[in-house]
Amino acid sequence: MTIRMTERTLVLVKPDGVKRGLIGEVISRFEKKGLKLVALKMVKFDRTKGEEFYSVHKDKSFFSDLVNFITSGPIVAMILEGDSAISVVRLMIGSTDGRKAQPGTIRGDFALSIQDNVVHASDSQESFEREYKVIFRDEEIISNY
Ligand code: ADP
Ligand code: MG
Repeated sequence: MTIRMTERTLVLVKPDGVKRGLIGEVISRFEKKGLKLVALKMVKFDRTKGEEFYSVHKDKSFFSDLVNFITSGPIVAMILEGDSAISVVRLMIGSTDGRKAQPGTIRGDFALSIQDNVVHASDSQESFEREYKVIFRDEEIISNY
């Protein structure tokens, strides 16, 4: 018997992706894969939200650069739902460093930088639960359609 695990994950099109006109490309890849879009919005993080979103990295040397980057322009946030959505989406975005990400992945095809890497995706159930609440209220998630 095949085990199915319906999960939700949070994806962001980061400011570089929005500026470069890659919103549609990113959403299209996930739609074609069969993942279901259950929430979607464009937002711009202020410094407090940026720091909150990336709080796990607060002690890293790149933290202030990262907060500058994520607050530098609008982002598009979405929640995707599907079988094993968390690991499937992480596979589809590729490694953090665009220079090392596999061709065929979003970062592998569109990024050439470790920072400006087009997308974010939750790396675990715990990360998803924390991250989506920075952006969405529960009523903004459309279930059962
Ligand atoms: P991921 O986004 O693949 O989960 P991390 O959680 O390790 O990667 O890092 C969060 C984000 O911080 C990355 O997507 C990238 O934008 C930025 N980042 C990670 N490592 C570095 C680094 N060494 N220098 C600059 N920016 C970095
Ligand atoms: Mg991460």
